[in-house]
Amino acid sequence: MNKQELEKIKQKALEEHIPIIMDDTLEVIGTYLSNNKPSRILEIGTAVGYSAICFTEFLAENGVIDTIERDEERVKEAKVNIQLAEVEDRIHIYEGDAVEILPTLDNQYDVVFIDAAKGKYPFFLKQALRMISKEGIIFADNILYKGYVMSDYNKHKQRTAVRNLREYIKEVSENPNLETEILEVGDGLAISKIKILI
Ligand code: SAH
Ligand code: MG
Repeated sequence: MNKQELEKIKQKALEEHIPIIMDDTLEVIGTYLSNNKPSRILEIGTAVGYSAICFTEFLAENGVIDTIERDEERVKEAKVNIQLAEVEDRIHIYEGDAVEILPTLDNQYDVVFIDAAKGKYPFFLKQALRMISKEGIIFADNILYKGYVMSDYNKHKQRTAVRNLREYIKEVSENPNLETEILEVGDGLAISKIKILI
């Protein structure tokens, strides 16, 4: 798809206040993907398909993206966008709640991109670790959640989300099989590489 059309999808999503991937976050992930040319990507949180469409550019030949979305309207719009982008053969949408869908999947993924309900990040991590390949990488977007995760502003109404994001950071940091970096790009991005233990 040409840049102009992709830009249109992006602008429409922004106008509708759909929290699509931020440019600097996309650049970090895109750089990794273009160096590694993954065959299989799992995305949790499709929204209108913007990030998935962007990722297709970096797939290996015949590579595919499985992506999960529970909001019916967004799924509809994602399908339209994916067709416009002519990447229907690259992106498969699972419609429904990732909490229910993930346990039914049993594929190996080179990359997992977690970008959905913040309160479920520890669960998404467990599922990602079950399916990630040996040299894979797990990205988690919005990990700093507007800075709430770093502050002691506990009364915030999103405190369940904050608690679970902190739990995610703790788990990826303490897991001996992972090498994790937290970047301040966008809304915060956690990057966890699988370490091969010899
Ligand atoms: N990755 C997209 C943005 C995703 S926004 C992009 O960058 O273009 C987060 C999306 O996750 C929302 O559309 C929301 O409906 C969806 N979502 C949140 N929790 C979910 C869950 N438990 N299962 C499936 N989808 C979920
Ligand atoms: Mg996000």
